[in-house]
Amino acid sequence: MQPNRQSPVAYTRTMLSYMLANTPISGGVSSADARFIAEDANKASELKIQALELTCAAMWTILRDKLGVTEAELVQAIHDVDARDGVVDGKISPISKECPHCHRKALTRNPTKCAWCGGDLSPVGT
Ligand SMILES: [Zn+2]
Repeated sequence: MQPNRQSPVAYTRTMLSYMLANTPISGGVSSADARFIAEDANKASELKIQALELTCAAMWTILRDKLGVTEAELVQAIHDVDARDGVVDGKISPISKECPHCHRKALTRNPTKCAWCGGDLSPVGT
């Protein structure tokens, strides 16, 4: 796999060209090039997913065999982690909480204090 050496602008042009199917965008990437680059990005994503699956399977094996963790405990932990962003939807949403005191983005999920100004971030009523 070759790393993408395009600038963000060139890459965006490439993706736009790909998305607009067979329509070269001025500035120069042909639709064939765009298709090749998109396929390369898909392969890279696929390899990352396979590596993550392998890592998860290895970690699960260690947890089960060495620590005696049950499948029910794993399922509960997956549910608990999923629920941390406030929605049980099978994915972890990006951090979007903003500090009401300094208006910077939170650095972690569910913080109780702002890492920037130390302001209280606890939900109202808790
Ligand atoms: Zn703050």
